Amino acid sequence: MIKRTFNQIQKMANGLNQTTQFGDVLVEGVTIDSRKIEPNNLFVPLVGEHVNGHQFVEKAFLQGAAASFWQSDMPNPPEGLPLIIVDDVQAALQQLAKAYRHQVNCKVVGITGSNGKTTTKDMTAALLSEKYKVCKTRGNYNNHLGMPLTLLLMDEDTDVAVLEMGMSSRGEIDFLSTLAQPDIAVITNIGESHLLDLGSREEIANAKLEIVAGMADGGTLIYHGDEPLLLERIKGNFPHLRTVSFGRSQDSTLYASSIMQNQDTTSFKLEENGDEYMIPVLGNHNVLNALAAILTARELQVSESAIKEGLKTIQLTNMRMEMVAGANGEKIINDAYNASPTSVKAAIELVEGMTGFNHKHLVFGDMLELGPQEESFHLKIGEIINPNKINHLYTFGPLAKKIAEGAHKQFSSENVHSFQDKSALILKLKELSEAGDLILVKASRGMKLEEVVSSLQAKS
Ligand code: ATP
Ligand code: MG
Repeated sequence: MIKRTFNQIQKMANGLNQTTQFGDVLVEGVTIDSRKIEPNNLFVPLVGEHVNGHQFVEKAFLQGAAASFWQSDMPNPPEGLPLIIVDDVQAALQQLAKAYRHQVNCKVVGITGSNGKTTTKDMTAALLSEKYKVCKTRGNYNNHLGMPLTLLLMDEDTDVAVLEMGMSSRGEIDFLSTLAQPDIAVITNIGESHLLDLGSREEIANAKLEIVAGMADGGTLIYHGDEPLLLERIKGNFPHLRTVSFGRSQDSTLYASSIMQNQDTTSFKLEENGDEYMIPVLGNHNVLNALAAILTARELQVSESAIKEGLKTIQLTNMRMEMVAGANGEKIINDAYNASPTSVKAAIELVEGMTGFNHKHLVFGDMLELGPQEESFHLKIGEIINPNKINHLYTFGPLAKKIAEGAHKQFSSENVHSFQDKSALILKLKELSEAGDLILVKASRGMKLEEVVSSLQAKS
């Protein structure tokens, strides 16, 4: 994590202090939460809509903070404390992270896209760790606060920072990229998440492409080559960057063939060398995420044998296609972290392709924030489910009911179950599932379908 003196931090963050007796005070690490102060932290008292961090500044010192920012328009700064006076606390945090990124002199990989950012970030960090000291975004810290805080977590000798960049509207990725100045940028895919905010998939593609904003000449842009919206925007338009693509068709720079879905692992071949690669996670979409990670690792000269070893070690952050055991011998894929039409289709494709189970059950909750066409998105999901490959479909929530309606066209009614009450859903699921079955659970975060997973895991 960052270690600098008060004076150094105040310069890096464009502080307004004149002279101070605290110049040599050593600061280690940064926190925005006064309840989580570690010894010698810099406290950043953000001014939020409901809470103003300035009221906790004195408490932060009592808990061991070595210094704190103080926004110049806030009245009554406590006297005799090492305060770095700034125009705007949030901007100062971001500026500090930007300055630190350059002082550390590491390579930066920025990862955006509608789905698969966290997964690709984790995979990329695993491959790069075979050769380098890597700092990666923790969990989902991917916004205008999380990303600077991640940069400030880097040790001085970090070789590569792997940063997730998230957004919900235009301009946000531009901001993050300008701050982090990635040497390598990855766009995992274009889906429908945030359609409500952005209006169209074209606009979503434009928003993701803002990731080039902070890239210097000679940087590398790695993107999903199967996505026409990216192809048409990127091909020939960025002569100052190296552009490489990954996908499942031969038009991409790197493409996978012969994808094999095993019980807990997925293997695939790279057409270019005929070699087989294995990842200890499920799903064709995770092969695509792995391809993006492989391209990134190759850009940074990680050897192919180290890449293959690294792929075997990847671990995904919770609730992303996580295979867990049910209490009665069922296997459950917990994908309750999130859902959008693209990721739900990927999940259906996965489960339909999996063999060796007695029965297969799909449990879907609402996909939220899809805008005016939300009902038709749900209806279409229902229509693509294959009754020869899936035994039971369960839905939870008013929108997911449309998935059931779509599925009624090809399913017989005793195999489609629609609920507005989670306990009733769980009861039905317990009644119809047994040892040797496979159950996939997926919905938008707000639907909290992990409660279904934990009920199935609990001994009753
Ligand atoms: P968020 O925007 O919430 O941060 P994210 O982009 O970080 O999401 P992940 O957390 O990696 O995405 O994955 C979330 C879910 O998206 C996974 O559980 C999986 O269902 C799906 N997913 C992951 N990668 C892809 C992909 N390349 N294409 C389609 N769906 C994917
Ligand atoms: Mg994420």
